[in-house]
Amino acid sequence: MNSIRRTIKEWLHWGVEDQPDFTLKRKVLSVNLGALLSALSILSYMFFYWLTMNPALVNLASLDVFFVALLLGVPWLNQRGENAAARWILVLALMGSQLLASLLVYGSFFNSYYYYLLFAMGTVVIFPIQSWLLITSVFISNLGLFLLFQYGNFEPDPVLLELDSWILQLLSASYVALSYLTVFIAVWLIELMAKESEEKLSRLSLTDPLTDLPNRRYFESALQQEIAKAQRNNTPLVLALLDIDYFKKVNDKYGHDVGDEVLKHVAHHLRIVLRAGNTVARVGGEEFAVILPEMNLSAAAEVAERMRQAIEFNECPMKDIALPLSISIGVVAVDLKELPENAYKLADDALYAAKRGGRNRVIAFGE
Ligand code: GH3
Ligand code: MG
Ligand code: MG
Repeated sequence: MNSIRRTIKEWLHWGVEDQPDFTLKRKVLSVNLGALLSALSILSYMFFYWLTMNPALVNLASLDVFFVALLLGVPWLNQRGENAAARWILVLALMGSQLLASLLVYGSFFNSYYYYLLFAMGTVVIFPIQSWLLITSVFISNLGLFLLFQYGNFEPDPVLLELDSWILQLLSASYVALSYLTVFIAVWLIELMAKESEEKLSRLSLTDPLTDLPNRRYFESALQQEIAKAQRNNTPLVLALLDIDYFKKVNDKYGHDVGDEVLKHVAHHLRIVLRAGNTVARVGGEEFAVILPEMNLSAAAEVAERMRQAIEFNECPMKDIALPLSISIGVVAVDLKELPENAYKLADDALYAAKRGGRNRVIAFGE
């Protein structure tokens, strides 16, 4: 079961990764999804048609094989980067199969032509939104076909009417049910995709790409939330600011790439020292901030000391050198009655004091 799910998911994602932005990724995914759902829906009609053994319907089912094959080719086209062709094949296969069914068998007999309304709406989902002329034309063509069959009173194939009336009713009901089911599933999956891509976007906008730590934007909102929580629960809160000592020299002596490796190395060790509830963020070039909730100043200073030692005693392993490193840390008890900026300023003062005092040390202010 799991492997079927994985295969379907992979199939739906054909050609998605090559798209340059999230909107286009979603469009390609929607086209693949539309093709899969339509192929499944046509296949279930085909199965039903064969069961009835009515010559008109069996005939239609054989013709539908061609449209299913076209639809299954849609993700393949997307994977080859032929996204416009994929969209068109989807639209034309759907309109074509429906038109053939209307012209050859159904005429205006029961409401199968309501499908044109569905296709009209679907165009907005699958075409890029700036192709408004295209979207409008496809929309109008489908609306036109709907009106044509609604008011044209086309006769059905007499062979169709040889079916028992209960089968005809079942067929009619299944048209309504299946089209609504398709819309329901499509909207659901599109919502799911939107949720996924929004989460991804928000993660990206709050993460520093080099160290994979939360960035300054994340830190600022996290600090505000922690202050509010500490006020509610009447618990202490500590903020620590860390800065790598003589980092400019590392860059100057070994180059920017080595500097970047050092930043990753420091981020890695800070994460190891801290427990899960604590936020460590990269707030500047070689500056990090740590929020320590439910902790008094002396306990926090001990955590800071462990971070300092973790950097001092774990040299950064480079290709042929081992770089000795150190960090300076300013630690402050956050005054919950004051603005977050004041706590930050105070922590910066403590950090500055640590630098002036000779670096590679922890200075704690407050209480
Ligand atoms: P101090 O001990 O007083 O902190 O000295 P410092 O050399 O660490 O401080 P300074 O602020 O003079 O230097 C910070 C350097 O960090 C300058 C900048 O080139 C470097 N830097 C900032 N962001 C990055 C980055 O993303 N990658 C690398 N490799 N270097 C960075
Ligand atoms: Mg520095
Ligand atoms: Mg600095």
